[in-house]
Amino acid sequence: LAKLLHKDVSDVIKKLMFLGVLATINQVLDLDAIQLVAGEYGVEVEIKLPVDEDAFETIEEQDDPADLKSRPPVVTIMGHVDHGKTTLLDAIRHTNVTSGEAGGITQHIGAYQVEVNGKKITFLDTPGHEAFTTMRARGAQVTDITVLVVAADDGVMPQTVEAINHAKAANVPIIVAVNKIDKPTANPDRIMQELTEYGLVPEAWGGDTIYVNISAKMRTNLEELLEMILLVAEVNDYKANPDKRARGTVIEAELDKGKGPVARVLVQHGTLHVGDAFVAGNCFGRVRAMVNDRGRRLKEAGPSTPVEITGLTEVPQAGDPFMVFEDERKARAIAERRAAKARESERGANARVTLDDLYKQIKEGEIKDLNVIIKADVQGSVEALKGSLLKIDVEGVRVKIIHSGVGAITESDVALASASNAIIIGFNVRPETQAKATAEQEGVDIRLHNIIYNVTDEIEQAMKGMLDPVV
Ligand code: GDP
Repeated sequence: LAKLLHKDVSDVIKKLMFLGVLATINQVLDLDAIQLVAGEYGVEVEIKLPVDEDAFETIEEQDDPADLKSRPPVVTIMGHVDHGKTTLLDAIRHTNVTSGEAGGITQHIGAYQVEVNGKKITFLDTPGHEAFTTMRARGAQVTDITVLVVAADDGVMPQTVEAINHAKAANVPIIVAVNKIDKPTANPDRIMQELTEYGLVPEAWGGDTIYVNISAKMRTNLEELLEMILLVAEVNDYKANPDKRARGTVIEAELDKGKGPVARVLVQHGTLHVGDAFVAGNCFGRVRAMVNDRGRRLKEAGPSTPVEITGLTEVPQAGDPFMVFEDERKARAIAERRAAKARESERGANARVTLDDLYKQIKEGEIKDLNVIIKADVQGSVEALKGSLLKIDVEGVRVKIIHSGVGAITESDVALASASNAIIIGFNVRPETQAKATAEQEGVDIRLHNIIYNVTDEIEQAMKGMLDPVV
């Protein structure tokens, strides 16, 4: 430090002493002390922390705004089972195959693109929120817009509510597609009314949620739905820099008998080229071939393009980040270090919120909201619990209920808790076997109770740091 400041070491040590820091010549100073002492000499310090290239998913690249270009929105379709998600995905895929392209054989590569009025839209091909949440739990945010499918002859169901909460937790705008309007029993107005209770107020009623009445089966109003997606995309102006090394997310991956490991990836930044050396999760490779959702071979793929790539040495996992590096040697070194770190952290503790160390995390400023998921046997208990939990008043932390519902604790609840760093409260319900196993694996804290007072008491005590440790 003395050298950098062009001062004598003894002079710097003296200054430090005046500042209350007793330092020796070979001592490591903390950042505060460095800034203070430099300030004494009238020098301003700019702190640059070393970039951990191995953790490439957290590297933030600053793009010059002039380099950013519009990119297609990435859409996920969510909703209750049997409300028509798969039918809608198929219908959209086929409405837009122009006769010239009809020759191409559609390939399932985890996502596909359609073109509407000369603009592209990318759809993730896995309906439902499991894929969405799995990816988010692994730190990947790939969705820009959610289309919430609700069957007009059925209404708002538990998974509809889950989907809403997943989208909200990820801050993703929702477009409501009221489906099956061809059915005589369809009642779209009732859907709007029901969804209003979840904050999805239609524009016609003074809100800002877009509703489109469709029939996925009859292919009614699909154009309108697609136009609405483009409208939301235009408002949000999704952009990326296509002129740099590619990075994105693995949507699916598998070991193909003929092709070896294949990864289906969504390019999110930059442009991916055949021949690029890359890391995906803890695996590395070089893009040998690249195929799009029409089975066409591509030489390059820009932002929001889904492609299937071959040329990996191993199979990565869905949700893994991928990034191109300057050469294969570098990619291999980074992948190997990441794999070693992953093995190490598997052995180590995980840093999820649990009631037992809540107080410590609040004190350390790590959390301000205690995210909670409530599952109970009846709706009445859900409401009562919500009411009492929101009344807890402890300085410095707030209870935030990110999801609630009736029924057993499911894997989807655990995935949401894991993605949102939440705890789960089960009231007169238990976790399903698989959910319990996943919770243990992911370190998600599940608390089971049957007296409301005990729930609020436990949480309040935890917030105040007065919880007796559970053995
Ligand atoms: P998912 O579970 O949400 O993917 O639902 P599916 O797409 O599998 O659809 C469930 C059932 O609803 C199937 O029998 C579909 O044929 C039917 N279905 C989907 N969309 C419509 C629609 O617009 N109108 C009618 N009448 N039936 C539909």
